Amino acid sequence: MLGIDLHTHTTASDGSLTPLELIALAKENNTQMLAITDHDTVSGYLSVKEAVTGIRLISGVEISTVWHGIGIHMVGLNFAPEHLSIQQLLSQQATARQQRAEIILHKLNKVGVAIRLDELHEHAQTNHIGRPHIARLMVETGYVSSVDKAFKKYLGTGKVGDVKSGWVSLTEAAQAVRESGGVAVIAHPNHYKMTRSKLLRMIDDFVTVGGQGIEVISGKQHRDISTKFAHIANDKGLYASVGSDFHRYFPYAANVGLLPELPESVTPVWTLFD
Ligand code: AMP
Ligand code: MN
Ligand code: MN
Ligand code: MN
Repeated sequence: MLGIDLHTHTTASDGSLTPLELIALAKENNTQMLAITDHDTVSGYLSVKEAVTGIRLISGVEISTVWHGIGIHMVGLNFAPEHLSIQQLLSQQATARQQRAEIILHKLNKVGVAIRLDELHEHAQTNHIGRPHIARLMVETGYVSSVDKAFKKYLGTGKVGDVKSGWVSLTEAAQAVRESGGVAVIAHPNHYKMTRSKLLRMIDDFVTVGGQGIEVISGKQHRDISTKFAHIANDKGLYASVGSDFHRYFPYAANVGLLPELPESVTPVWTLFD
């Protein structure tokens, strides 16, 4: 096991553990270096960064971006969270997220799912509302029997609640992270429903605008996938990152900090951290 995890979520976005609970679990799992990468917010990270001991906490965020109409998640690591470039980008994203929640609810209302915005805010307990919050409320109110069904029927890729409008471009996100002194990383590259050639084109564009890394190990993926992305990382001159993408404990998902070693051929992204 590696002891490094550079992609995790807390209650500041759609995770189920508070930042302190996440850190406690990471320590229990012998994690030495951790990044909290909540969706479009650094509030979870900021709330604990002064208090943490016994683990190296790296600043992080997972930014929802669009590239040619396709939703791409980009992880920013080791940036100065107070820098104006990242602050402006994240405040733009926060507004987009709030407007998007309203748009999603409006679309759901039209297909008979009558959930109100005030209910959703009450339920989510965060301003950074994502589809998982909506999915959980749909389960609670009996519209679907599980979160999985909510995504399959209403919220997943191509469904009525899959709204990408308002997100920044991949370029804007990569530039803001770079300007803030950080490293921009393509998150979970195996998750995008793209042909290989399109994926490689996206990566080329990402490199052109200052992107430096890619998650070679993401969650509990097959070794062959890691090997594939190690090759791509080397071909494109990208640093390799690793992340569980932990949201909550789930037997079939990766636990915090418990990830395999990177293939030897790649250069780890943390060699860029001082
Ligand atoms: P959003 O930030 O609103 O775009 O929501 C994206 C989040 O939804 C991802 O980060 C995952 O945590 C979650 N998610 C995406 N697809 C699914 C799915 N099929 N089942 C459960 N959760 C999902
Ligand atoms: Mn999530
Ligand atoms: Mn993601
Ligand atoms: Mn994530």
